[in-house]
Amino acid sequence: MNRREFFKRSLTIAGSLLIARNSNASDQPLSVYSTQNKANKKNWEKFEELKKTNSQIDESYAVLVDITKCIGCRRCEWACNEWNKNPNRPVKEFEASKDEKPSVFDRVRRTHAGEFTVVNRFHSKNKPVYVKKQCMHCAEAACLNACFVDAFKKTPQGAVLYNPSLCVGCRYCMIACPFDIPAYEYYNALTPQITKCTMCFDRVTDGKVPACVESCTSDALIFGKRSEMLKLAYNTINKNPERYINHVYGEHEAGGTNWLYISQIPFEKLGFPELDKTPIPAHSKSFLFTVKVLEVVAAAPLVWGAYYMISKNRSKKEGKKDE
Ligand code: SF4
Ligand code: SF4
Repeated sequence: MNRREFFKRSLTIAGSLLIARNSNASDQPLSVYSTQNKANKKNWEKFEELKKTNSQIDESYAVLVDITKCIGCRRCEWACNEWNKNPNRPVKEFEASKDEKPSVFDRVRRTHAGEFTVVNRFHSKNKPVYVKKQCMHCAEAACLNACFVDAFKKTPQGAVLYNPSLCVGCRYCMIACPFDIPAYEYYNALTPQITKCTMCFDRVTDGKVPACVESCTSDALIFGKRSEMLKLAYNTINKNPERYINHVYGEHEAGGTNWLYISQIPFEKLGFPELDKTPIPAHSKSFLFTVKVLEVVAAAPLVWGAYYMISKNRSKKEGKKDE
């Protein structure tokens, strides 16, 4: 039995319980849902391939999101679905949602298995403020640190990638992420899969910009080297101090991220968690250790119970044979 099979077997019972416990906790309507998405796997394979070439990357990339420029067209959502082969609809339907009643903007959404990015609407002085949400590609990623089978990697290009074939479905990454990003496909307990934004690692390593950045016609998304994006962010703020608050979200939060935001109103009013400079893994280590211990303790009676039943049945059969 290899490591993967061992984990699959020993965690299936505990995993099923966890799924049952948490399936009502999310506000997503897609708790039993599978996109059979291959984007995360494909990007991991490309990362493994590139590792063999030993190519040197001097600095990671970043996307700078200028919230003041976002018009809520949701073309970035459409482009992300299109590139990553997630379920999609005509782009016009995305663009129309701003004026619809009821509208997708009526509630604050999170990413899920079929959508690696979502745009939410907030309000300031009775005006709409649109905010794109996706994986922040943290420098010291909490998801990566929480994963005990090393199914996440931080790449030199900046993207945090995930390998579904190593994943055992424990979902510690979901608990650990301060941005509520990793989503889980509940469809098949034996082939668990987390899905999330890959920062278009496959496009970036081919010299292209991420699909969402390419689709944005409002210049709300700019892609480049992280240091250049930081410089651009502060230049923009300093040239227009009446238009921006003096804060680049992601410069320091949680140890720094490869998605950076500038805004006209404080980030906590736009659903961003208030985080200090300390990387989340430093905060979450002891908590996750406790969770792991508790879940192993909780799963133990089930595993031993199953073992006892199997042994008992086997003894009965053997007893019958002997009679
Ligand atoms: S935002 Fe969440 S999922 Fe993305 S790298 Fe950071 S901890 Fe991981
Ligand atoms: S494509 Fe650009 S303007 Fe449109 S919702 Fe996305 S970030 Fe905003």
